[in-house]
Amino acid sequence: MTITRFAPSPNGPLHLGHAFSAIASHDRAMRDSGEFLLRIEDIDGARSRPELADEFRADLAWLGLACREVPAQSQRIASYRAAADNLRAMGLLYPCTCTRAEIAAAAHTQGPDGPIYPGTCLRRGARPNTEAAWRLDIEQAAILAGPLEWTDERRGVQQARPEMFGDVVLWRKDAPASYHLAATLDDAADGVTHVTRGVDLFHASHIHRLLQHLLGLPVPTWHHHPVLVESDGRKLAKRRDAPAIADRRRAGEDGRAVAAEVRSALFDTGISQSDALTLQP
Ligand code: GLU
Repeated sequence: MTITRFAPSPNGPLHLGHAFSAIASHDRAMRDSGEFLLRIEDIDGARSRPELADEFRADLAWLGLACREVPAQSQRIASYRAAADNLRAMGLLYPCTCTRAEIAAAAHTQGPDGPIYPGTCLRRGARPNTEAAWRLDIEQAAILAGPLEWTDERRGVQQARPEMFGDVVLWRKDAPASYHLAATLDDAADGVTHVTRGVDLFHASHIHRLLQHLLGLPVPTWHHHPVLVESDGRKLAKRRDAPAIADRRRAGEDGRAVAAEVRSALFDTGISQSDALTLQP
């Protein structure tokens, strides 16, 4: 059975870009008479606002998207810890005590998530302490895994290139697990067959594919849908105050009509293959 998910982080209200993502994911599952899941990704420490989860549920219902909610990430820390222990026992994690400023000063290359970590703590053999983050030794991990492939429904078969991220942090000091570790484990635990999310997270799937291999997890298919952009071409974003759909819900607008507008943009995507879409006002 096809199982997709929408996995919002409660660090700001949902806007139309999220509605687009939720609809893409919901409709992908419904196309195969499958199941659509909601997972609240609430381990982002200080930025997480638990009260937003109820708003998200109401937003999805308003848009007419029935879902089955699975446990939020804050309920699953033990499984993240066990996986990190596993990777550590395989000799693939090392502690890192560098500050952001130290990394910025020493890093020479940018990866998809920011500066590529220059391996300082790997070379100096930093000792673990409570302040340490744990990084994946990507070179060792890639050697162990060998060549890997993954498939995106829109872009076809991909050769995994996790090295583009450098030694990513998998266990954080300010929040339990990194997005990469938590999302990969959760998708497997939830039985997600089609990881449906925005194309802005396309590169993350290279790392997730590697983690699946290392941790012996099933390999899903991916569906990276286009992202909605403003008329200036920039992605809709919470931090730029994209209007909250909760405001439209409270103002008494018809959520199903809003969803229908969004669906017509999604339908166009199939034709244009574009990665960025603007909704007509
Ligand atoms: N929690 C992520 C976000 O809100 C989504 C992650 C995913 O879909 O894999 O951006």
